[in-house]
Amino acid sequence: MHDPIPTLTFPGGRKIPVLGQGTWRMGEDRAKAAAEIRSLQIGLDLGMTLIDTAEMYGDGGAERIVGEALRGRRDEAFIVSKVLPANASRSGTIAACERSLENLGTDRIDLYLLHWRGGHPLADTVAAFEALKKAGKILAWGVSNFDLDDMEELIAVPEGGHVATNQVLYNLARRGIEYDLLPWCRDRHLPVMAYSPLDEGRLLHNADLIHIAKAHQATPAQVALAFLKTRSGVISIPKTGSTERARENRDAMDIHLTAENLAELDRFFPPPRRKTRLEVI
Ligand code: NAP
Repeated sequence: MHDPIPTLTFPGGRKIPVLGQGTWRMGEDRAKAAAEIRSLQIGLDLGMTLIDTAEMYGDGGAERIVGEALRGRRDEAFIVSKVLPANASRSGTIAACERSLENLGTDRIDLYLLHWRGGHPLADTVAAFEALKKAGKILAWGVSNFDLDDMEELIAVPEGGHVATNQVLYNLARRGIEYDLLPWCRDRHLPVMAYSPLDEGRLLHNADLIHIAKAHQATPAQVALAFLKTRSGVISIPKTGSTERARENRDAMDIHLTAENLAELDRFFPPPRRKTRLEVI
């Protein structure tokens, strides 16, 4: 018997589980497609209903995998996709969104993000996002890889305050956002999406984390995800192409780290004491 996955509420009122599924490096190899589709479907069965993808991943291939995984069950999922900065002009964003809808085999994207800041003015991208929202092609929009100064600039452009999330690198080994960006987002009730929550797999080989995980009869991946569960306002989106690891990640939500456990994690993975530039992958 599982504990339910905790939820958080996006601006606009949609309640979403704080553990979702990533898709980077999916859709690149046809031989792996069936396993990738299956792992996303099992994840969905287990309540990890937020699926994060991007036009960049596999050049549309990951979006097509998501579309296949969701065939006949689109309404169960909350789809996040992203426009590449090079495409994020006013007309380019709209054209990119149309392509993503086609790849995903759906009529709407729940949350559409600017993948990172590029050369196009933020005001143009925001205007395109708002037009897409009015047309019902996206239900909300947000950004990714924005540091605090980028967020301040964003909310100053017309309708920039409608931003619904910032998706950034955040895991036990990369805690810089705890200093300023995470509190800033929390103050504004803006959920933060933690990408690479396992540090792209590197955390799994960390000797300290392996030691702590053993004490919990858990795996390092599970402790890394259980840690993020303790951070309010944070959704983590681990990627796996394996049904076993999808189950393992879901089971991490049943782990309850105590204040003592968290203090131990702080000793091995110290929180930031000063501002550091936002790290990106
Ligand atoms: P991650 O989720 O931290 O790690 C993924 C790696 O960990 C994969 O190699 C996966 O291998 C492995 N893994 C997953 N669960 C595991 C488990 N329980 N035990 C052992 N290994 C496990 O890294 P990520 O893919 O970079 O980040 C997650 C998602 O965030 C991406 O897929 C993408 O959707 C998003 N992202 C966004 C940005 C951005 O700029 N906005 C950047 C990076 C990532 P298997 O597949 O073989 O299980």
